[in-house]
Amino acid sequence: MEVLIAEHAGFCEGVERAFKIALETSRAGKPVFMLGNLVHNKQVVEQLKAQGVRTVSALSEIPPGTSGTLLISAHGVPPEIYEGAKKLNLDIVDTTCPWVKKAQKIAKELAEEGRLVMIVGDKGHPEVKALVGWSGGKGLVVEKEEEIDKLSLAPEARVGILAQTTQAEAHFDRMVTALKKMVKDVVEYDTICGATSKRQSAAVEVAKKVDLMLVVGDQMSANTKRLTELCTQTGTETHQIQTVEELDKKWLKGKGRIGITAGASTPEWVIQEVITLLRAP
Ligand code: SF4
Repeated sequence: MEVLIAEHAGFCEGVERAFKIALETSRAGKPVFMLGNLVHNKQVVEQLKAQGVRTVSALSEIPPGTSGTLLISAHGVPPEIYEGAKKLNLDIVDTTCPWVKKAQKIAKELAEEGRLVMIVGDKGHPEVKALVGWSGGKGLVVEKEEEIDKLSLAPEARVGILAQTTQAEAHFDRMVTALKKMVKDVVEYDTICGATSKRQSAAVEVAKKVDLMLVVGDQMSANTKRLTELCTQTGTETHQIQTVEELDKKWLKGKGRIGITAGASTPEWVIQEVITLLRAP
């Protein structure tokens, strides 16, 4: 059996940076609170937990008067979280990915220009919720073209459109085209990050050459989900697995070439376990 690994797969710079900062912060000796998950990967979150980092789902879970540090995740948070943390006298360690920061700045500026801010992204994803916050709470999140078609926007509306950093390029382009059919004054910002584009192209390239494609990553991870969708669209049988334990050996029967890719938040050791199993005699 031949195993082909996508040229770009696994931890991206943004996740690597966030993980490194979080580990350093956990060693500083103060209580560390993480709002939500640092990145969408169970193994990463568990490793931080083992280092003493406590996960909270809201600032209200941190007792007032607690001296400690708030870790902001790579996905970013809305502005009110920074204000809330200051009120609680917490130190802030911000691991928001620079690509996400850039998208937040654009959302804020578009809102300040008085434009309707349209965000192409997964409703409910922390990055997207934060972008809505940076747009002054008025950002409109759209996932599918049909949603744009159903909007009753006046032709003279002024709209700014941007993307969650992990969207697929072709999908964002289709969304922009659909919007431009409805309104004339559209400014578009392709805020999809370089790591996402590279991982998507590399995954599709491998998927086209193999009999079976395995995408390693957490079900909660938006970029992993997108890799799975894109590989499936090539027509190659594709399965997303979180760890090697989820690999069903029945999938391998009669398959000569197996392709592997992994989401930007999947640690190298998790990918290696899958490769080792496939290469085992
Ligand atoms: S996928 Fe892109 S935006 Fe997300 S953390 Fe990685 S580099 Fe940053």
